[in-house]
Amino acid sequence: MINDLSLGPLSHAPMALADLARYVDYGHSKRSDVPCTHKYEHRLTCDEYDAMRDRAQGECELCDTPDHETPRGQLVIDHFRGRRFRIIRGLICDRCNSVMSRHDATAPWGPASLPFAERARAYHLNAFSRPTVELLQRADAEIELRRARLAARRV
Ligand SMILES: [Zn+2]
Ligand SMILES: [Zn+2]
Repeated sequence: MINDLSLGPLSHAPMALADLARYVDYGHSKRSDVPCTHKYEHRLTCDEYDAMRDRAQGECELCDTPDHETPRGQLVIDHFRGRRFRIIRGLICDRCNSVMSRHDATAPWGPASLPFAERARAYHLNAFSRPTVELLQRADAEIELRRARLAARRV
């Protein structure tokens, strides 16, 4: 089950955890002198961000867990970071963020995450930022390279 996914000491985790902390859905900034997180982290305008939150409807877009029932009590802004491009995918929970790191091949699939592979794929293809086919192909090419690297490391 997805609940087996550890949020804590993932093997490659220091970076991943720092990332998670940075990308939490903080809503809009309440101070006029402080930009919204979605803006400086993801270059999403307030309107785009609202549209993304409307799409998620307060639930993880991958596993449908309501935000207040997630370990953090908030969703995170999920993106695929490629070389010289990024795809803003949507709002998901911490656990699914870890599933997406498997999809993106920054970590290997395991028994806890593998059952979500198909949903992860569908969610990736349905990314909020509406990536072009060409961009999705570039993402896949990078994922393939990473996966080969992961496999090589495990031999
Ligand atoms: Zn805003
Ligand atoms: Zn989730």
